[in-house]
Amino acid sequence: MFIDVINLKKSYTTGSVTTEVLKGIGMKLEKGETGVILGPSGSGKSTLINIIGGIDRGDSGQVSVDGVEITDLNDDQLTDYRRGDIGFVFQFYNLVPNLTVGENIEVVSNISKSPLDTDVVLAAVGMRDKKHRFPRELSGGEQQRVSIARAIVKNPKLLLCDEPTGALDFLTSRFILQLLQQVNQKYGTTILMITHNAAIAAMANRVFRLRSGEVVEESVNQNTVPAERIEW
Ligand code: ADP
Ligand code: MG
Repeated sequence: MFIDVINLKKSYTTGSVTTEVLKGIGMKLEKGETGVILGPSGSGKSTLINIIGGIDRGDSGQVSVDGVEITDLNDDQLTDYRRGDIGFVFQFYNLVPNLTVGENIEVVSNISKSPLDTDVVLAAVGMRDKKHRFPRELSGGEQQRVSIARAIVKNPKLLLCDEPTGALDFLTSRFILQLLQQVNQKYGTTILMITHNAAIAAMANRVFRLRSGEVVEESVNQNTVPAERIEW
């Protein structure tokens, strides 16, 4: 099992109020699969993928990714895991405004250690000719394409996407989702994505529906096959 989350719990305390945000989550995803997380706002979706990606930590339970029990890692090891193996795509792109497109990919990803080249990933997302532009000169869809290029330049094992089309119009969303599907098919990157888009949920291998910190429904799509992973 590529992602194996067992009985994951997480609470936040604000002042004297403690809220249990994840109440014993179980979730499994095979290598090369695309998983989708659905659920209302505040149900714990971002908290869950942030823990899987090593941005945050759970309070109890187990989270293993590609055989690594990330709950056992110390802070330095968790940082290495996050930087080395995981790509992130966020709703609002999170590009650095005063860096060009090319610099966003090279500086932020520390590309010297990367097997993929900036020009290759920019071409893959159709942004090769915008390499010297700044984020403010790009549309939202173009910025998201750059953020996908930045996320895949390390050839991550796992791509975590938190509402990647949440700020985009219908047609641009469709393009971005197709791009993510191509990444999955071309490189075999396992993808776990939070989305409200029903079309992408229909194409995913597995769909997890969260409500108030619990997986209330899980479905497996038998018609889809996991992608083959390409190692460099
Ligand atoms: P979703 O992504 O499904 O909208 P989140 O995982 O972002 O949900 O948040 C789940 C709940 O946890 C929300 O009620 C939110 O307010 C709370 N929460 C998230 N992050 C924090 C934090 N750092 N401190 C306190 N509460 C938080
Ligand atoms: Mg969220």
